[in-house]
Amino acid sequence: MKCPICESTRHQPSFQYHEPPQGEVRYPLEGKYFREYSLCETCGHYFSSFRWPKNSVYEGTYVESTYKGIEGIRNTYSRIRALPPERSDNTGRVNYICDHFRQAGNEDFGALSLLDIGAGLGVFPAGMKEKGWKSHALDPDSLACRHMQEDLGIEVFQGDFFAAKIPGKFDLVSFNKVLEHVEDPVEMLRLAKPLLKKGGLVYLELPDGEGAAKESQDREEFFIDHLHVFSASSYSVCADRAGFQLIKLERIREPSTKYTLRGFLAEA
Ligand SMILES: [Zn+2]
Repeated sequence: MKCPICESTRHQPSFQYHEPPQGEVRYPLEGKYFREYSLCETCGHYFSSFRWPKNSVYEGTYVESTYKGIEGIRNTYSRIRALPPERSDNTGRVNYICDHFRQAGNEDFGALSLLDIGAGLGVFPAGMKEKGWKSHALDPDSLACRHMQEDLGIEVFQGDFFAAKIPGKFDLVSFNKVLEHVEDPVEMLRLAKPLLKKGGLVYLELPDGEGAAKESQDREEFFIDHLHVFSASSYSVCADRAGFQLIKLERIREPSTKYTLRGFLAEA
């Protein structure tokens, strides 16, 4: 078996889980709980042995288990948006992105369009919309899409990104903690290329396994829904194999305590 990111065969078993770590959502899974990450010795990437049962997650189960329906979505959304700026991961993200565009000479956000992939509650596209951006969002979940469209006035595309036909091109396509959930992150990232306007950028945010592993294997970066946990090196290799060049990458500790890698990619 190869590392799914750099294709090296040099990897070894790493963290094992015989029960859900504290704080992990209890998904209705059959059989005994066991999963394990392998650690790639070449690029430092963690990849999981766990696979979801077919046709289960992200099409109902995920949102139902995590947020308990549309009222749960609205309540969670309101709670997150009410966080003071210094405690909000989302405020940090919105400011980081807007600063990057401002530094590149793009002050007029009203002229810029965003497509957020796997938008979930819509906290990020709503924050960008407040800064003036034309925000669009894609999510597979019908309740999440209803909430974004009806409550937040965001233009939504409902569907699976791997199958979706999205009209138009965008100045920014964002993946906020999305690629770690899919089996093939390289392929998912590659699909963003035709969605970019000329000179457009991808904003890519991923869990930082190198930072988190120093603290504990039971941290949220290693929860069950993360099939991949990245390193600075695997972040960069993933971008490269998907046909992008890395133009910025940084490692941060977010207000929520998450260990995170974030940066920008341009077409190679
Ligand atoms: Zn690797």
